[in-house]
This record gives sequence, C-alpha cells and structure tokens, in this order.
Amino acid sequence: MANAEKSGRIFVVSAPSGAGKHTILKRTLAHDPNLTYSISATTRKPRAGEQDGREYYFLERPVFEQRVSAGEFAEWAEVHGNLYGTLRSELDRIVSSGKDALMELDVQGMRNVKDLGIDAVTVFIMAPSLEELEQRLRARGTDNEEVIALRLKNAIKEIASRREYDHVIVNVDIRDAVAELEAIIRAARERTANV
Ligand code: 5GP
Repeated sequence: MANAEKSGRIFVVSAPSGAGKHTILKRTLAHDPNLTYSISATTRKPRAGEQDGREYYFLERPVFEQRVSAGEFAEWAEVHGNLYGTLRSELDRIVSSGKDALMELDVQGMRNVKDLGIDAVTVFIMAPSLEELEQRLRARGTDNEEVIALRLKNAIKEIASRREYDHVIVNVDIRDAVAELEAIIRAARERTANV
C-alpha cells in the first residue's frame, strides 16, 4: 500500500512528567512496525530498569557539552536541571531505517524541531488534572520531593503551551489515549499517501 511505502514522517510527542506518556508510547510502538523511537541523549542518571541505548544514551555532562560544541546535536534543551537532546546520528539512523520517527521532546524540543523547518506532526498528552498528575508522580516513586515540585512547576508551564501543538490528548483512559495517538498517526500517513 502506498502509505506503507512512504516513510520519513516525524511525530513529536510532549507531555508533562506523569501524564502517562511512556506507557502510551510503548504500546503504540509495540503495535506499529513502521514507527521507530528516537533515542535521545541525556545527562540525567538512569532510573531503575533503564538501559543505555534503549531509553536514552546516558552521557556525563562534560561529554554532552563537548558534543554540543562539536555540532553533533540536531536540537537540545535543559529540562528539570538536566540536558536532553537529539543527536544528528540518531536522526540518520531513523532515516536509513526507512521508518517514521517518534520523538519524545519537551516543549522547547518541539519548538526547536519546528525552527529547524522540519514538518513534524506534534501531539501534546496531558493528565486529566494537576491533582491527578501529582498523584501519578508520587505513585511512580522515582523522584524525591524536590524533583516532584520542580516537575509539577514545569508541568503548569508546559500545559500552558498545549495550543502550539497540532493535537492534544487528555489521558483519562490509557487504552483510549493509545487509540487516539494511533488515529493521529494513521491520519497523517493517509494525508501524505493521497498526494
Ligand atoms: P524524563 O527525565 O522524564 O525521561 O524526561 C524529561 C523531559 O525531557 C521530558 O519532557 C522529555 O520529553 C524531555 N526530553 C527527552 N528527550 C529530549 C530531547 O531529545 N530533547 C528535548 N528537548 N527534550 C527531551
């Protein structure tokens, strides 16, 4: 089918921490063999269960900064006190795989991609309320109080930017949210396939 042959679309997904983004993306990727996850680099320490080269490329800050100076990043930003960015080599890997890219970026990253002139489909995922978001962050048990407070403060700022995105998904039910993201991806593929 024409839409399976056409590749190279970029989907950018942003969400405040705790909105359920990781679960939604994991399921969508598992369902969709034509989609590949863009692995970012970060100076954040790995969380339990995270593996270098799978969730992220974990870099020490001096190494990250040196690679920024060397022009190796397509985009990067400071988020919650750590550096995060997309390496050009990662984008090359995805282009050569012939698949569509799923990029998980913060709001700055989404703007960076747009500023690069990349024609991305952008999606913002949010929890039904801030109370719910706070509860989910605590239940996750991966961050201390200080980090939770910082992530909540940033969430309020990020939610205010949601209108800059092409689509907003409110994650009330995880299965519905996955179905919504898959529908957005399908629609984008059909749109280009019909040209
Ligand atoms: P976490 O520490 O929870 O894995 O991610 C924190 C934030 O960093 C999330 O909002 C995530 O979307 C963002 N992020 C992850 N990778 C990148 C990246 O390559 N560039 C930018 N700008 N943000 C990223």
